[in-house]
Amino acid sequence: MRSVRPPAAHLARMQPYDPKYLPARAFLSANENPLDVEDKLRQEIARELKRVPLNRYPDPLANELRDQIARAYGLRREQVLVGNGGDELLFDVALCWGGPGRTFLNLPPTFSVYEANARLTHTKTENVPRRADFSIDEEAVLARVARGDVDYVVVTSPNNPTGNAAPAGFVRRLLDTTDALVMVDEAYGEFCDESVMPLLGDYENLLVLRTFSKAYALAGVRMGYVLGAPTVIEQLCKVRQPYSVNALSQTAACAVFRNRERFAPAIRGIVAERERVLGELAAMPQVHPYRSDANFILVRVPDAHRVWERLYDRGVLVRDFSGNPLTADCLRVSIGTRQENNLFLGALAEALGPSERKADR
Ligand code: PMP
Repeated sequence: MRSVRPPAAHLARMQPYDPKYLPARAFLSANENPLDVEDKLRQEIARELKRVPLNRYPDPLANELRDQIARAYGLRREQVLVGNGGDELLFDVALCWGGPGRTFLNLPPTFSVYEANARLTHTKTENVPRRADFSIDEEAVLARVARGDVDYVVVTSPNNPTGNAAPAGFVRRLLDTTDALVMVDEAYGEFCDESVMPLLGDYENLLVLRTFSKAYALAGVRMGYVLGAPTVIEQLCKVRQPYSVNALSQTAACAVFRNRERFAPAIRGIVAERERVLGELAAMPQVHPYRSDANFILVRVPDAHRVWERLYDRGVLVRDFSGNPLTADCLRVSIGTRQENNLFLGALAEALGPSERKADR
């Protein structure tokens, strides 16, 4: 037999995740830290990597890293779990709290991976869309969970791609209203003043996600973690891949976490650049930037896809969200170095320029 029988039926309507990477002078499309780990720390990491045994399996639970993270937040090891990027942990949550006959509550527009994971795990997705300004429709969310059938909900704070953080008071009210698992995805939490971590002691149904991919410049290493109640972490341990976090990543992440204070100036620099870019965008005619608590900005512009093309022609890659009706005419730009941001601002002014627009048509 030379052919293969069809795969599982639910894959028919799915597409592989495509981050739409293209080579560019200013790569402002993946919300990474534009600055790599500084040399001195890289050397420290390199020295430690040399000593890692490659013939042995890694510690399945990365306990050294778990302990470091737990200590930093005043938690116990049993309240922390690390994963191969936050992505792996998001899938684990869907495996544990989703499943056939179960319901996930989504607050779109938001990170597309949540809904994909729900589909893969045969979980029903219910949507409470955000308002026109992308704030959460708090009363609608509370009313929806009060019906009692929601098994888990993800609140992304700051939200991707819209940039705004969820009010901590709302998260508390949500946790008080439901026994659904409330995953607060703080992948961009280091760029924002608010975190719901202080609520961890009070609520068994709160799970907080963080990642090393953004503020800590380790997107290439693949490392994320969740903080939650030991009872919840124990369930996640049942579904996770035993050796998903490799020994080299564990070592690199331990070194970075131990030295995380060294990232503080770069994080402050990104936040300062975000405010500068926001100011510049707000002053441009036809451009509507949304306030951001993250390391990226969502911008509404007329004819967004054409603007995306013209930016790319000028060497600037941003992410085009205009295909989604909830983010019609929106592009998302990551905050890069000052030079990259200036390249973007200049290219955007040209891309929107009236003379060129006429000549193009
Ligand atoms: N959550 C959000 C909101 C994200 O934007 C991302 C990265 N795009 C992740 C989680 C996962 O990040 P990682 O797998 O790199 O840790």
